[in-house]
Amino acid sequence: MLINPGRTKKTDDRPGRHLDLHALLVRPSMQPGESNRGYRLRLAHANGLASPSWLLRVTGLGNPSAHGGHVRWCPLCLEQEHCVWFRAWSTGTPICLQHQCWLADTCGRCNRSLTWRSARYLSCYCGTPLAEVIAPVLSAELVMLGISTNTCQSSAWWAVLPIERRWKLAHFLGALHTYGLHGKPLKKASVASVDHARGMINSGAEIVLGEESAFHALLRRIRMDPAAGISVQLLKEAFPTLLERMRRQLSALENDVLLTWVRSFLLKNAGRDVTISWKRSGATVSAAECARHLNVRVERLPAILSLHGFVPKTRRTTTGRMMLTVAPQTVMEIQDCISKTLSRRYVSTMYGLSPSRLALLVEAGLIRGIDQKVDTSSVADLLGRMSFASVTETSTDLLDLIPLDQLLRTLVPLPLTVTFFRAILAGEIRCQRLAPQGNHLRDLLASRFNTQALLGVAQKVTGEYISLPDAAGRLKLKQEVIYHLVKRGVIQAVQKRVGRRFARFIQMRELSRFCEEVEPLVYAASRHGVSRQAALNWAKATGQKIVSGPSIDGGRQYFILKSNQSHTADILTNAPH
Ligand SMILES: [Zn+2]
Ligand SMILES: [Zn+2]
Repeated sequence: MLINPGRTKKTDDRPGRHLDLHALLVRPSMQPGESNRGYRLRLAHANGLASPSWLLRVTGLGNPSAHGGHVRWCPLCLEQEHCVWFRAWSTGTPICLQHQCWLADTCGRCNRSLTWRSARYLSCYCGTPLAEVIAPVLSAELVMLGISTNTCQSSAWWAVLPIERRWKLAHFLGALHTYGLHGKPLKKASVASVDHARGMINSGAEIVLGEESAFHALLRRIRMDPAAGISVQLLKEAFPTLLERMRRQLSALENDVLLTWVRSFLLKNAGRDVTISWKRSGATVSAAECARHLNVRVERLPAILSLHGFVPKTRRTTTGRMMLTVAPQTVMEIQDCISKTLSRRYVSTMYGLSPSRLALLVEAGLIRGIDQKVDTSSVADLLGRMSFASVTETSTDLLDLIPLDQLLRTLVPLPLTVTFFRAILAGEIRCQRLAPQGNHLRDLLASRFNTQALLGVAQKVTGEYISLPDAAGRLKLKQEVIYHLVKRGVIQAVQKRVGRRFARFIQMRELSRFCEEVEPLVYAASRHGVSRQAALNWAKATGQKIVSGPSIDGGRQYFILKSNQSHTADILTNAPH
């Protein structure tokens, strides 16, 4: 088929511009994607010219092969009938996608790297057919990386990149892998060779497929050693020119992905001996920022950090200023500590632990504190570490378990505070929790007997008096029930002067006696599987001794003598008012 000269003159790409095709006998048409110079090779071949340079003599026009320049070809493509030299062979990555192989650039026999001057349409100028040169097949990684977007099932981020971009990215990473950040490839012809590109792209493809962890491994390999004695390395010192190279050579998407991985690398390494500082990373904050977050002056920062047990990474800048880097996580932790560190007095009202006891606990390391302040979370931790028994309803418990604040006040001398809390943590003192969420000491009950036994404190129970409302709380009875029992003499109370007024009190010994001898009818009934409604009939039927109740003395609740206490019934019922 003849070329239409009018059409072919439209673009510089077209051979017609340089060639007077009418001087040639055979004038094949140019194929889509065919290289300009490759077309000249084909034209010369079709017209029986031994060298394409003879086109000059035949057509009287410019020498088509005057320019040197290396050629690349796919031996498998050139094996086919009516084959052409594709433009993509010399412009893109030296890979033939159709045959999944690398392009060739060297004659297999004379071992020359072929140029447009030495190449012929189908052979080297030494006569060796170009189709006979061995083309290495693509590695498994590259085949995977080169799967076209349409058929690519991969959810990998690079799947959206055009195939040529994926190879360029692999080449970029492979070059970093091979040369690092300081070394630059020498400007030798070998650098342009297919073999060289193959090495780069193969090692880079593994990194692309290995994603973040492979890129992190690459960063570890190419990182510059920090100068001696510093604990903060700037990003541009650790990875000189890396960001510029990424910006220049990669697309926006590729650049973004790699920057994210640089950031995660810095975050991962933030705890190491030497931190890499990069403002944009978010992995560290500067001293000024840190001070602002914590609301302290920059000069005080090192002291504050060390108070909370953080060793900041510091470094002198060239101007002699102190540079300090802290991970954002650390800033938040310190912020948290500061917000929870309150004065002993405040913590004392919060938990019911006196300031002097708090001081002793800080000293013993059971809670954390600085100066006159206490870290409230450490107090909560301490109370949280106590082991609590399940709640029982035995009458001895009612007397034995008393609120922790009261126990401390009455039974634990200040110097024994630490011993007492160690015993509690060791589970040597029985404890119960009144409210599930309560953390004030009055919400926690601890065993009086255990405490006395442990601390060797003298028995004080007998001498103690409690108010009637306190006794009601202790026995879990309504106050009016206690008042009624006192009125009826079932429990004895005494008049005592407190401050300017008289009030009735019950001695602990009396309360203890009452608990040992008497119990609410419903307790006994429920022990025998009898319902609250049937309790009274059950008591009468089984001959229980009822000491108080609506039908006995007009009380609101029935009480009976415990069965082993029947012989004391007379004493109780005849008790004086
Ligand atoms: Zn091919
Ligand atoms: Zn050759």
